[in-house]
This record gives sequence, structure tokens and C-alpha cells, in this order.
Amino acid sequence: MTFISAAAALAAVGHIARTGELRARGVTTRELARASNAGEIRRVRRGVYAGARTDDGMLHAAEHGGSVSCTTAGRMLGLWILQEAAGMHLWLGREGNLRRCTRSRCAVRAHWDDGDGVLGRIPPVRNVLVQIAECAGEETFFAALESALRQSLLHPSDLRWLARRLPRDLHWLLAFARADADSRSPPDGRLRACCPWLITGETRMRRRVRSGHAVLRIRLR
Ligand SMILES: [Zn+2]
Ligand SMILES: [Zn+2]
Repeated sequence: MTFISAAAALAAVGHIARTGELRARGVTTRELARASNAGEIRRVRRGVYAGARTDDGMLHAAEHGGSVSCTTAGRMLGLWILQEAAGMHLWLGREGNLRRCTRSRCAVRAHWDDGDGVLGRIPPVRNVLVQIAECAGEETFFAALESALRQSLLHPSDLRWLARRLPRDLHWLLAFARADADSRSPPDGRLRACCPWLITGETRMRRRVRSGHAVLRIRLR
């Protein structure tokens, strides 16, 4: 039988994998032990291994049984992220179990939204946008959304999916975002140019459009 190195198999599957997945690729139990002892791979938790150079955020998420999400995942996907959400945010798919990690002073924000979470895999762009809408402001959400459109990362069906899951008062941003906006200007700049009243300091403003009339509602944080 051909020797399959654990490190090579991990690199092929995305740097984090369960033992069963590695065994299915021909990695033996002896090779897993050898590579782990030699520091070529890392044991994340029982039955889960990672490549030696795996991003620490991905490792931490895998310790909890999930993958990185929200603004961190958006940045990894190349979205325009104005403001990172504080703390560790992870995705567990729709029904994943949140596990404890062994790190001290750990506080995580878990996202459960549609889909099956896979260890080491960033959630789909549409999920990441829903997560950003939950944890960041309208401006950050809009900038991420429009940058995804500009890079053709969203299918029309994804926009319909988003419309079903986003709060109603964010729907106008879905309509305002454009794939063909001038790529030289940042998305948030276009939003501010259109709606200079939108977000200033402690004030967040939300807008609802009904029958062609804009209704503005101010919420003080
Ligand atoms: Zn989040
Ligand atoms: Zn943790």
C-alpha cells in the first residue's frame, strides 16, 4: 500500500480533518501518531487533526466544533470589512454542538444558521453576510454585501435566500447594493454619499420604505 503522509492529506482536505476522513484517504493510525509526535500535524481534540501551520482562529473554532464565521470569515473571503466584531465568532451549521475548548478566558459567540458546518471550512458567503448583519452595524453589513456583489460571489438565489433571513429593516440595503458600482470607491463611501445621515457616532438610523415613501426611525444605543 502506498504511504500517504498525514500532513499531505491534511493539506489536501483543507488543513483540518477528522481521523475518519484521513483514514479514508489512506493515512494509517501509525502515521497519524508519528506525524503528531514529530510536530508535522497538530491534534486539535480527540479525533480531529490540523496542519502544523493552520491559522489559530481556525484551530480555536475547531476546538469548539465549528469554523470561523462572521466578520473574520468575511475578511478571509475577501469581503470589505469595516469593523471586526469583538471576540471569537464561530459557525456550527444549523444543528452543530458547541463544545468547550481548553483555552483560558474564552468567550465565543456561536452562529447557528442554515447549512452543515464543516471543520476548517469557511461558511458560504450568504451565511457570512447573515452573521455580519447579526453582529455588526448596517454600514459594515452593506460594505460586505456590496463587495461580495462586485466580486460575483453571490448568485441571484443567494439574494433571495438573504431576503428571507435578514430583518425587514435591512432589506433596503439589499436593494441599494450594486454589483456594478465604481470599484474605486469603497462601498461604505457610496452609502454615506447617498445617506449622509445613516450612522454617526452613537446614533443608528434605520429606514423603511413603504409604497415609495421613506420612513425613518432613529434608535439610540
Ligand atoms: Zn458574529
Ligand atoms: Zn474557546
